[in-house]
Amino acid sequence: MSERALAVIGGGVIGLSVARRAAQDGWSVRVHRTDARGASWVAGGMLAPHSEGWPGEDAQLALGLESLKLWHTGFLDGLPGEVVTARESLVVAVDRADVADLRTVAEWLSVQGQPVSPTTAARDIEPLLAQGIRHGFVAETELAVDNRRLVQALEAACTALGVQWAPPVTDLTEVPGLRVIANGIDAPALWPGLQVRPVKGEVLRLRWRKGCMPMPDRVIRARVHGRQVYLVPRPDGVVVGATQYEHGRDTAPVVTGVRDLLDDACAVLPALGEYELAECAAGLRPMTPDGLPIVGRLDERTLVATGHGRNGFLLAPWTAERIAAELAQG
Ligand SMILES: Cc1cc2nc3c(=O)[nH]c(=O)nc-3n(C[C@H](O)[C@H](O)[C@H](O)COP(=O)(O)OP(=O)(O)OC[C@H]3O[C@@H](n4cnc5c(N)ncnc54)[C@H](O)[C@@H]3O)c2cc1C
Repeated sequence: MSERALAVIGGGVIGLSVARRAAQDGWSVRVHRTDARGASWVAGGMLAPHSEGWPGEDAQLALGLESLKLWHTGFLDGLPGEVVTARESLVVAVDRADVADLRTVAEWLSVQGQPVSPTTAARDIEPLLAQGIRHGFVAETELAVDNRRLVQALEAACTALGVQWAPPVTDLTEVPGLRVIANGIDAPALWPGLQVRPVKGEVLRLRWRKGCMPMPDRVIRARVHGRQVYLVPRPDGVVVGATQYEHGRDTAPVVTGVRDLLDDACAVLPALGEYELAECAAGLRPMTPDGLPIVGRLDERTLVATGHGRNGFLLAPWTAERIAAELAQG
């Protein structure tokens, strides 16, 4: 084994981002992975620290902004194909309570030095919005990526850099050298005591059909009578997400979750009613008690990168940099 060998356990967006960055730094990298695609295959792919923000979550906002900057300044370099599907978010509110909610978020962002652009003419920005939706704000620097294309692009970039692929790990003793635990909700099985739990989310994929109204070209997030829904553009349609609740490791999309998402999506963009319902899925977010990821060193030979909750795509570049810095320290 070469002196600079590194094993990354987990082939989701986090493991792949860490592996690619380490390989770029000259490490001889091996990624252990399973056939199961994990949360990364299900996600919406929004890179959205502003519109995900909520008063009190100042640390999450700061981290998200740091990572969004990396998305804008190099993380995409060298990735094959086009993975970005939107370059702006429009956040809107449906009823009066929703408007008040959004105002709270916008004011908090402003206090954080992150003013967003409020509007009372949301339909001038996005004419496909349902009549009556007026209030909202635009987050100009947010992005969205096609999560599946990104995972495949990272895999291709890793392969091109000489990263090796290896079978899953059942026990850390199988990986005696330097290793990074990056297997999402399964991290506690390798390192008991890691505070990561699965939080389920249903998500739908709607496909554009001939004769339908066009797809939005920005992310649309909405508060709909207290619930939240988002619509993320894809080359062939739109991803609608996402529910959020705890139900162990259950990944069956259930009727009430799917119904709520469809109701809310159509309340915001009625034209979606004519799209094809192409896929219903559910994934498990690796969530931590404080909502912040667990990224760093566990012992001399073991590093960890998990617990990214709702923001694993957003935080992938930051995580890769953090682990690279830790590796550089030796
Ligand atoms: C419905 C939904 C919507 C989301 N939307 C967004 C969004 O819009 N923006 C955003 O930033 N984030 C979003 N997320 C969150 C994001 O998907 C996760 O934070 C992210 O995918 C976590 O990546 P990961 O690589 O840590 O875990 P995973 O993607 O779960 O990957 C872990 C991998 O490790 C493998 N593995 C497990 N055990 C082992 C083992 N012992 N050995 C080897 N491999 C193993 C698994 O099979 C899996 O492939 C969403 C999540 C869900 C569920």
